[in-house]
Amino acid sequence: MILDLFRLDGKVAIVTGANTGLGQGISLALAQAGASVIGVARRSCQETAEKIQADKGSFHEVIVDLSRPEAVDTIVDRTKALAGRADILVNNAGMILREDAIDVSQENWDKVIYLNQRLVFFLSQAIAREFFFPAGSGKIINIASMLSFQGGIRVPAYAASKSAVVGLTKALANEWASRGIQVNAIAPGYMATNNTTQLRNDQERSASILERIPAGRWGTPEDIMGTAVYLASKASDYVNGFTIAVDGGWLAR
Ligand code: NAP
Repeated sequence: MILDLFRLDGKVAIVTGANTGLGQGISLALAQAGASVIGVARRSCQETAEKIQADKGSFHEVIVDLSRPEAVDTIVDRTKALAGRADILVNNAGMILREDAIDVSQENWDKVIYLNQRLVFFLSQAIAREFFFPAGSGKIINIASMLSFQGGIRVPAYAASKSAVVGLTKALANEWASRGIQVNAIAPGYMATNNTTQLRNDQERSASILERIPAGRWGTPEDIMGTAVYLASKASDYVNGFTIAVDGGWLAR
């Protein structure tokens, strides 16, 4: 039956940045669909764990700072030890630094590019090598942004990195589709999370953003739960290299 294609029973999903915001919402969604979730974060994922356990779902955390060079190996090793397999990888962790382009230091540029772009590639490569290639299947979901399509204001490294995420999603899909691995992305619109606190506190910017969203409201982590389950599931097996906007209509304007 069609709804069975969306079930994730028996699957193991790795979600980076699972302690809060969109990563927490995605973790809850995948767990509710039946997956066992391995949440990667640099801080405790206790809140996420409690929410999943309240639904009788399965959740383990791997605490690691993703900006550290050993992070990729740690995630692979801990996943092997905890579950012995991985079927789904959600590259959700990301950071944004807001400053005028004229002031951006090399250090700040590198921090954003490292986490939002470089790590997305090398974690995908490592998980594909270790789990997806041997199994002949796997799902990668990258988290892109409106700034994968637009330039934004005062966030040049973020815009560059999120544009790269869309290119990388297509590049990996082209190489790995024939291996049974689907690589796709979700581009969230303006969502009420820590990522946008500064923006939402700026009354003028906040009002002009809200005025431009056809849905007339900021998005929430719940808003991307359905798309995450779809892209993680068998229902999307012939979807490759595509970025789905979940943006209340922002890009349609
Ligand atoms: P968020 O609440 O700031 O979440 C970002 C996540 O990444 C947090 O779990 C954060 O951990 C984690 N992270 C950052 N640096 C890390 C590091 N060095 N090591 C380990 N984890 C690290 O914001 P969010 O909105 O949920 O963001 C999730 C993703 O969606 C990001 O890729 C973001 O760019 C993207 N996105 C968000 C929006 C939006 O409007 N909110 C729109 C488009 C795209 P800590 O909690 O410890 O910082």
